Amino acid sequence: MTKIRVLDPDTVNQIAAGEVVERPASVVKELLENAIDAGSTSILIDVSSDMAGITRIRVTDNGEGMTPEEAALAFHPHATSKIRDIADLSAIRTLGFRGEALASIAAVAEVTLITRPREAGALAGTRVVVRGGEVVEKSEVGAPEGTTVVVERLFYNTPARRKFLKSRNTELAHLYGVVENLALAHGEVAFRVVHNGKERMATQRSGGLLNTIAGLHGADLARALVPVEGRLPFLRIGGYVSRPSESRGNPSQVVVTINGRSISSRQIAAAVREGYGTLLPKDRYPVAFLDLSIDTGLVDVNVHPTKREVRLSREREILPAVAAAVEEALAGHDLTRDVPAEPVQQQIVPQGPQPAPAPPVGEPEASYTAGHRELTLSDKQLRRTETEGGENLLPAMEPVGQVAATYIVAEGTDGTLYLVDQHAAHERVLYDQVVEQRDAGAGSQELIMPVVLSLPPKESAALRDAIPLLADGGFVVEEFGRDTFAVRAVPAALGAVEDPGAVRETIADFLGDESRTVPDRREAVTCIVACRGAVKAGALLTHDQQKRLLAQLARTKTPWTCPHGRPTVVAFDKRKLDGIFRRG
Ligand code: ADP
Ligand code: MG
Repeated sequence: MTKIRVLDPDTVNQIAAGEVVERPASVVKELLENAIDAGSTSILIDVSSDMAGITRIRVTDNGEGMTPEEAALAFHPHATSKIRDIADLSAIRTLGFRGEALASIAAVAEVTLITRPREAGALAGTRVVVRGGEVVEKSEVGAPEGTTVVVERLFYNTPARRKFLKSRNTELAHLYGVVENLALAHGEVAFRVVHNGKERMATQRSGGLLNTIAGLHGADLARALVPVEGRLPFLRIGGYVSRPSESRGNPSQVVVTINGRSISSRQIAAAVREGYGTLLPKDRYPVAFLDLSIDTGLVDVNVHPTKREVRLSREREILPAVAAAVEEALAGHDLTRDVPAEPVQQQIVPQGPQPAPAPPVGEPEASYTAGHRELTLSDKQLRRTETEGGENLLPAMEPVGQVAATYIVAEGTDGTLYLVDQHAAHERVLYDQVVEQRDAGAGSQELIMPVVLSLPPKESAALRDAIPLLADGGFVVEEFGRDTFAVRAVPAALGAVEDPGAVRETIADFLGDESRTVPDRREAVTCIVACRGAVKAGALLTHDQQKRLLAQLARTKTPWTCPHGRPTVVAFDKRKLDGIFRRG
């Protein structure tokens, strides 16, 4: 009797079909899911690579193991111990259920499996070697309890798929990302990743989610988080979200797990974002690690072959509950007080007079001080982009004031009403300058003290690849230790960066979106720098500052749109206004 059975054709037909092995990271995902399903408490991922890419993946677990019969059967398509028929899916507790992973991996690689069942007394272990889907060897071997799977020569027989693989570092980054996500979802397991003999990542067992986060992303980030809690009769919400001071330019750091699965869901990410309301600018996203336990009957896991997406019943109750839990978590903390502590590793010598320390929040000066700081900051930002001469490409206009601290209202000499988006306008100014400096090869400003970044393995692998692109954009970055980088210079357009957090965020923004091609990514560095350095929406501007911004915008080559193609200026001429008011 084996616990593994081949699913009947009817059941197979009802299971979401599709390719699960796209890249080395998918292999690791499937092997880790199997190890977790086998009740392991400790999993080792040992990866080897050479310049050409990842050559070998070995995953060793201390789970329940397999008997000799099971070890061979496991490679059979649709062979699984996890469900009997489709009805079992409504109460599924395991990560796997398709019975396809080992078969799919073995079809495109050389796989060696060594396993010994936990409760087998004197029974020896089993070794099975499968190549291109065929079992080429099955033998008895001595082995510890648990399972080891070695995958070599991935895609050796499918050159088309091999061709789609990206650089070694990109593939490694994906692989680390997979481990990270599963480690966040499974605190009951200790994960350890070794690459070419060096340990890259390690989590402790049952150390709690916050400890896992600190282990993966550093103590600085962990300190910037607040706990989230929420409950409905069929739902428990847990996890952590960042204080508004820690944000990103894209939603890639909103990590969601549902019943132990790492899930990508725009809707849930949007609900998390919604919980921040106006605490974050419109284009910023929080860092979040959200853990949802939902009655299994309400979660349809049979949507996508790689199970990255699930369908939720009662989503209309779940999403608002998530938003409310996040809102409550943020409301329960005095966020204004939490000036991020200066991290030990990220010291930077201030380059000018220090701003006066803010008085304790709650005193009457507080809001005045905030406004004053804004004015000073905006002034610095505008001073940086001051240029001499140049042609004016906008009609002459005089600012009248500001609406919602976001739009400048201006009047043209002919009575035209102009509305100018202050952030978009300044972004355009900066963008043009950054491009000019970039193309002149003179866009860097050296930092007196380099900003040191200690990154999780996934980001450091991505950063390693991005160093030349970032250099092109004015960042001088050097790696000087395990996953540790020194930023020695930043684009001049960012100015003397007093805040190491800004450097970290700028780079995180860039790394967070890797779906782009090289010219796009080069462009992305420029855009992020422009966006970062630009006057913010919501910043108060004096009349003089408004005037300067309009003058700077007028001297750019394409003043009417921002680098993202959105309008910077809209105009209502006198005739249009008359029309609106039916002045005939
Ligand atoms: P699935 O996980 O969907 O059942 P797989 O092809 O991934 O399908 O694995 C097939 C079967 O092999 C599993 O159902 C399980 O019984 C067994 N198996 C695979 N990996 C392990 C492991 N690491 N430890 C114990 N059993 C395993
Ligand atoms: Mg599986």
